[in-house]
This record gives sequence, C-alpha cells and structure tokens, in this order.
Amino acid sequence: MIDISLQQDQFEVVPTLVQPTLVEVLKMRAKAQMAGLQSSKSLPQVHTLPIADMLAARLASFDPESEDAEAENAFYVADLGEVYRQHLRWKTLLPRIEPFFAMKCNPDPMVMRLLASLGAGFDCASKNEIQSVLDLGVDPSRIIYANPCKQNSFVKYAYNNNVRMMTFDNAEELYKIKRFHPEAQLVLRILTDDSKSLCKLGLKFGAPLDTTASLLATAQGLGLDVIGISFHVGSGCFDANAFGEAVIRARRVFDQAKDYGFDFKFLDVGGGFPSAHVTEGITFEKVASILGSTVDAHFGPEVRVIAEPGRYYVGSAFTLATQVIARRTIQHDADQALDNARNENPSHMYYINDGMYGSFNCIMFDHQVCEPHVLLRDGEFAYQQELMDRRSLASVWGPTCDSIDCITSKASLPLMESGDWLYFENMGAYTITAASQFNGFKKSEILYTTTEQEVTFHF
Ligand SMILES: *Cc1c(COP(=O)(O)O)cnc(C)c1O
Repeated sequence: MIDISLQQDQFEVVPTLVQPTLVEVLKMRAKAQMAGLQSSKSLPQVHTLPIADMLAARLASFDPESEDAEAENAFYVADLGEVYRQHLRWKTLLPRIEPFFAMKCNPDPMVMRLLASLGAGFDCASKNEIQSVLDLGVDPSRIIYANPCKQNSFVKYAYNNNVRMMTFDNAEELYKIKRFHPEAQLVLRILTDDSKSLCKLGLKFGAPLDTTASLLATAQGLGLDVIGISFHVGSGCFDANAFGEAVIRARRVFDQAKDYGFDFKFLDVGGGFPSAHVTEGITFEKVASILGSTVDAHFGPEVRVIAEPGRYYVGSAFTLATQVIARRTIQHDADQALDNARNENPSHMYYINDGMYGSFNCIMFDHQVCEPHVLLRDGEFAYQQELMDRRSLASVWGPTCDSIDCITSKASLPLMESGDWLYFENMGAYTITAASQFNGFKKSEILYTTTEQEVTFHF
C-alpha cells in the first residue's frame, strides 16, 4: 500500500506502516466518511493490485443489506501503470516528438501528477486548465495554450504566469495577443483534412492554407513572434496517412513563413493518436511509423517537434464498474417470442447507475460504442471470464429519467438480476471529464492501482 504526497515539486511514495487490505481500507473510509472525518485534500491511495483484484475487493467491501447508498455507486478502477506504459511506448516509437498531454481528455489529478513527474508537457485550453498544471509545480515552459480562440482575461493570465506558447488561426486573435501578451510564442494552427476522423475539429479551428500568408503578414506587421505551425488531424483519427499529409502541409507554411521574416523552429503535430486498445487497423505503431518518418524527411534536427496526445494516454487505463439497479422484462406475444429465440428483439432492459449524462457522455460527444461485460452475477465474480450461460439480446440504460440515456440498444448478455454488476473497459478518454450530475446522480468515484511496479519510482 502506498501513499503519494506532494513535496517540493517531487512526488514521493511513502509506504504506510500498516498494510490493511483494500477491503479494510474501503470499509474504514466509508466509516470515516459517515463520521465526516474524510479530509478532501488528501490524495487518494494508489494500490498495486491487478485490476481484477481491485474490482473484487471493492465489490466485497460493501454489505448489500446496509443502507450505505454510496457503496453501491458505480466506480472506476484507474491503472496508472497503463498510463506509464503508454508513455514508454511513446518514447520508444516517437523519440523525437515531445508529448504534451491534452488534459481535456481526462484531467484526473493522479494521471496529471504521474505525467508531470514523467516530464511530459501539457496542452491546456483555459485558465483553469493552466492553473491546475501550474499548481502541480510544472514549469510554464511545459505548457502550450492550444486554444486558437481565447478569452482576453485568460490571455492576460497566461502573460502573468509566463505561459508563452499559444496557438492562433485568425487575425483578430493576433490583435488580442498583441494587446495582452506581446511576448507570446505563437503557433499558427493550420487546417488539415479531418474527413477520416470521428471528431472533425476542422469545422471549428484551423487556418485554411490560402489565409496563412495574410496571417503571417499581420503577425509580422504587429512585431509578434510566430515560432511555428500546429495542426490536429481530428480526434479518433482512422487514417494513418492523415498525419503524413498534414506534416507536408506544415512544411509548405514553414517555407512560406520565410517570406515574412520568420525562421520557424517549432512543429506541433497535435492529437488524434489511437488508444492502446486499438490493436488492429490504425494502431499507434502505424501512426508512429508514418508520422516519425515524414517528420524526419521534411524537418531538420533544428526543429523542435511536440504533439498533444489525449486519448492515447488514458483511453485504456480506466475500467468502469456499474451496478444493475433495475430490470424490465419485455413481454412479447407468442410470435415475437419465436423471433426472440432467433435473437432479434431485446428480451430485457437493464438500468445501471451511470449513464449518458455521466461517464457515457462519450457515446454522444465522442462517438463511442460501449460494450457491457458481466462483472458480478448471482454473487459470482466474472471479470474477463468466458460465461457459458445462454445469452440473449438486451438493452442497457443509464439511471436518469431521460430516454436519451441509453448505453446500448443491443447487448448480448446472460440473464442478469438487479444487484448484479456490469463493467466497461477502455473508459479513460472523454468520459469523466464531461460527466454531469444531471438528475442528482454523482460522478463515479475512482480507485487507483498500478500494474507497473516502475510507477512508484517515478512518483
Ligand atoms: C482535443 C485536442 C487534443 C487531443 O486529442 P486526442 O484525440 O484525444 O489525442 C489535442 N490537441 C487539441 C488542440 C485538442 O483540441
């Protein structure tokens, strides 16, 4: 059992003297919470158990007969070891490109601490995001303010806190920056082809290539320092070539910038890198090999190259466990029952205690498909086990009173009862970060573990 505490910009792992089991810790914490003893400031504990044990311990820690409502809530198990492995993988496959974690993807305080201690940079889009990174003791030079359209006061905040790197894609922003942050190191975000991405960011941001000349002329006229180019191929990119083509576009603007007196030495290749659970199709290996070689072919070693991965770091690191809180059996007439035997109509509707307004907002905002697996059924722990039971089609719904709150309309599940549990893997990206508390349902709690012994040395 380890505690992580912040000391003089260092993250230290302090072994606790007693080593209670996770079950005991959770029971103690529940008691402390009830007695109002829990200090909200202390960092959560990081365990060193496999994910299966974390899930099992949590499920074993509450008494279904007790009235402690909180214990039944949905919860996450976050594996910091997975985030660490992703960092190593990045360093191995893209050694030239410095990762700046796009924190909007999952600003989890422990993930942020781990990445800060590993020396990653951060892509921030608002004053609060910048502030939370600075509060970790990260040097302002390790932040890029990567929102091309910024509120005046936020630009002043960046100026007052020595955050210099920031992106822009329109002339009005240049006048704003001239006024509030004349020493900014500006990065021109160009438009690239995002047609092969799930989330098309080009609708909103990015300067078309026929506008870059005039933007550079304006910046030159204002005496602003433009240091290079950025792009974002779109989040959930499913075409590895998109990165290569974008790098070539960036090269064109590098050359163009010379006409306006700029000698660019900075390239930001943005985000859009696949999460670790993508093991076929556009894998990180494929993207890295195309991107790495295109960058090397077009940019000399004098050019500093950074990226803004979000999903890549956290997607696979979070597992969500939810309880089946209610079940409705759909009554079919005899003919339909026959159909049902042929698996065409859902036979049951399951209601679980996290949904579209909570963690599963990724279904709407991030175009994700979330597949439920059985975690606990009739008291039997079933994490990552092949269940032999007969399956049928069912729909799975969140807990709110809105009918949009549907997680899947066609899941293949064995018969479940209220009180059983389902889990969802790869829930780390664009989930908790945009969850609301609509209808009075709290955000799901996070338990931390590390499946990588190394992580303790890096904190
Ligand atoms: C959202 C975002 C990212 C991260 O995108 P991922 O697909 O999660 O890697 C990076 N940069 C910018 C500017 C973004 O808006």
